[in-house]
Amino acid sequence: MQKMKIPISIEPAKAALKRMTINGIIVNGELSRLAEVADVLDEYLDVAIECGIDPQELVFVRGNASANLELRCQRCGNGIKMNVSTEFLYTPVRRGRAAEESDEQIPDAYEEIELNEFGEINLVQLVEDELMLALPIVAMHEPEDCSITEDDMTFGELAPEAMDEEKSNPFDILKNLKK
Ligand SMILES: [Zn+2]
Repeated sequence: MQKMKIPISIEPAKAALKRMTINGIIVNGELSRLAEVADVLDEYLDVAIECGIDPQELVFVRGNASANLELRCQRCGNGIKMNVSTEFLYTPVRRGRAAEESDEQIPDAYEEIELNEFGEINLVQLVEDELMLALPIVAMHEPEDCSITEDDMTFGELAPEAMDEEKSNPFDILKNLKK
């Protein structure tokens, strides 16, 4: 079956009423911000999105996406390939209505996304933001895969980074950020 590009933007309220599901692709040329920080190895990414209304009558946009990327190892400078995936659950809020001003109680499970002036959200941008958030803060090979060994580092100028790595796992930091 021919893969269809996902719509660039949707109106969540309408999409939710129709219980719209989208199974499509984003071609890598549309991910220019992601391409600034990583090589996008896939020609296109599969994206699945589902819109609906929850029991609390909140509109939701749920989805997932993953990408094969090549980042620069911060230790040896060579490429490091990784699969980055993300799952997301948003509820749209009207422009200028941040959480503190809203009288609606938005459950913690949701991230809020502002509608633009047309009552739309940009799906491609949303997925790209999600993938960028899922990137490790510091990309680094596992010590056994890296072309710079721990022995080299004892003498090298890269030692401070090695110390950072011991202190914290970048994936853990990201997990906390997303809460
Ligand atoms: Zn490396």
